[in-house]
Amino acid sequence: MLTSIVGINWGDEGKGRMVDLLSKDYDVVCRYQGGNNAGHTVINERGKFVLNLLPSGILREGVVCVMGPGMVIDIKHLAGEMARLREQGIVITPENLKISDRAVITMPYHVQQDCLEEARLADKKFGSTRRGIAFVYADKYMKKAFRMGELLNLDRLAKRVPDIVEWKNLTIANAYGAEPVKTEDMLAYFKEYGEPLRDYICDTGLYLNAAQKAGKKIMLEAQLGALRDLDYGIYPYTSSSNNIAAYGPIGAGVPNLKLDKTIGIMKAYSTCVGEGPFTAEYFGEKAEKLRKAGGEYGAATGRPRRVGPFDAVASRYGIRVQGADEIALTKLDILSGHEELEICTAYELDGKKLTEFPFTDVLDDCKPVFETVKGWNCDISACRKKEDLPKEALDYIRLLETLCECKIKYVSVGAERDAYIEM
Ligand code: GDP
Repeated sequence: MLTSIVGINWGDEGKGRMVDLLSKDYDVVCRYQGGNNAGHTVINERGKFVLNLLPSGILREGVVCVMGPGMVIDIKHLAGEMARLREQGIVITPENLKISDRAVITMPYHVQQDCLEEARLADKKFGSTRRGIAFVYADKYMKKAFRMGELLNLDRLAKRVPDIVEWKNLTIANAYGAEPVKTEDMLAYFKEYGEPLRDYICDTGLYLNAAQKAGKKIMLEAQLGALRDLDYGIYPYTSSSNNIAAYGPIGAGVPNLKLDKTIGIMKAYSTCVGEGPFTAEYFGEKAEKLRKAGGEYGAATGRPRRVGPFDAVASRYGIRVQGADEIALTKLDILSGHEELEICTAYELDGKKLTEFPFTDVLDDCKPVFETVKGWNCDISACRKKEDLPKEALDYIRLLETLCECKIKYVSVGAERDAYIEM
C-alpha cells in the first residue's frame, strides 16, 4: 500500500500534523523532495517538535523513516535536528532512519550563494528561505553536486572536491566577490558531518520495494504545496523541486511502484510565505486578525505569513494537479467566532470571471471575487464527531467539497494529535 500525503495550497497546510496522525496506520514514512526549507510543526503527547528534514513519522515508535533520492540534505542541519530530537527523547538509529545514497548534499556554499543572491537582489528579492535549496538543485542538474552515497568513501569523494571548488569559486569569489570556498574546509566538513551518517545511508529503493513486498504500508510525505511545485506552481515563486504526488514514487526511490491513494491536505483559509501572486490576499486589520488567530508565522523562518480567505480557484487546481482522492481540511477552528466568512470563488480578469486557475503571469492582474457565507460564533476545538459541529461549520465544509469537487474525509480543529473529526 503506497499512499502520498501532499499539500493542496501554498504549503503550511498542516501536513506534518496530519502525517503524525495518519502514520499510526503506516509502517514506513518517506520524504521524497525538498530539504530543510520545510518546517513541520507537530504537537503530540511527547511534546512540540519542529521538523525540517526528518519525516514526521520519526515521532512514532515502530515507524521506519526514509529520506528519498529526490531530497537535498544539509548534513550539518541534519546533525543538529537529530541531536535536538534526541534531547526530546526521540530514538533515531539506522533501524528507523534510512537515507538514500542518491540524495544530494546541500553544501555550505549553496547557503552562501543563496544569501549572496538575495542580498544582490535587495528589494527585488524572491523571499528565499536562504537554505541554499535552489542552488543545490541547480548544481544537481548541472551534475556538479555531491550525493549522500559518496560519504561512504571519503577518499574517493576527496578527489572530486578540488574541481568542484574551483568551479564554484568562479561564481562565489569571481562574480560575487565573496570569500572563496576552500578545498580543505570542504573535506573537513564532509568528515565532521558525513562520518556520523554512514550507517544510515543505503539504497532506499531496495528497502522500500522489499517493504512493499512484505505487505508494509508506506506513506510518502510531501513538503510544501501544489502551488509551490516547480512545474505546476506559481513559477518562478515556487520551490525548486516537484512536490506533486506523481513525483512521489520517483523521489522516494520506487519509480516502479504506483500510488494507491493520495490524501490532500487543504487549509480552511489561505496562507502564503514569501513573494509571488496571492490573489485572495487580505490586508490591514482583516489580515492581522486572521494571522494572529492562526499563528501564521513560518516554522522555518519566523516570517509572518500572508493570509486570506479560502481560495476555491487555487484549491481546485491544487487538488487536480495532486490527483487527490480525498481531503484533510485543517485549522477549521481558526475560523470560529465570525458572523460571516468570505470565500474566494472566482478571479476577475479584464471584466471576465475566471473559475479555473490561470497561467501564473496573468495572476498579477486578477482580482478576487469573494462570496459571503454564514460563520459560527462558538468554539469548535472540542468537537470530535461531525454531529458536534455547528450547522454553519458543516455547511462550510460541504460548500468547500462542492466547490473543489473532492470529498473531505478529515477535519482538524486543533493542533493536538486527537483534535480532529473523521467525516
Ligand atoms: P506543514 O508545513 O504543512 O506541516 O504546516 P506547519 O507546521 O507550517 O503549519 C501548521 C501549523 O498549524 C502548526 O503550528 C500546527 O501545530 C498547527 N495546526 C495544524 N493543524 C491545526 C488545527 O487543526 N488547528 C490549529 N489551531 N492549529 C493546527
